[in-house]
Amino acid sequence: MLKTILPDENATLALGGAIARGIEPGLVVFLHGDLGAGKTTLVRGVLRGLGFEGRVKSPTYALVELYEVSRLDFHHFDFYRFQDPREWNEAGFRDTFDGRRVSFVEWPEKAHGLLPTADVEITLAIQDVGRVATLKANTPMGIRCLEAAMR
Ligand code: ADP
Ligand code: MG
Repeated sequence: MLKTILPDENATLALGGAIARGIEPGLVVFLHGDLGAGKTTLVRGVLRGLGFEGRVKSPTYALVELYEVSRLDFHHFDFYRFQDPREWNEAGFRDTFDGRRVSFVEWPEKAHGLLPTADVEITLAIQDVGRVATLKANTPMGIRCLEAAMR
């Protein structure tokens, strides 16, 4: 388990950039933390680190935004508004976690039981100033990811 202080938004973006170095196809990352904790900002940093130059929107209404970047099939989920498990198949998620795509998931708690095990879990907590990030690897792929990020 790693803990790091993120004094400002740029630090959150930089952490995302570091994590981008450790991404492999199939990686699943859960992002925990309250509204406004910086989960979307972190994903923006990851995508920039992968070379994506466009706008990174919050997928809150769409549940998922897709990016093709650096030869990865990148899925950014936000299950904040996810209500009914039936939406899962309607939204075409059945084949989504197929071991090839990269998935970053905000509010995974709301899709409990539908998601695979996360390789990496990141928790962002709001402090007086800035944020504290806690990073945890659950699988060998997750350990490789965090090792690459911390190098
Ligand atoms: P979430 O997706 O968790 O709801 P967002 O990524 O949308 O949160 O971020 C909410 C706000 O927090 C943004 O205005 C962003 O600039 C700010 N923010 C992100 N990281 C930090 C940080 N380390 N310190 C202070 N503010 C931050
Ligand atoms: Mg968000």
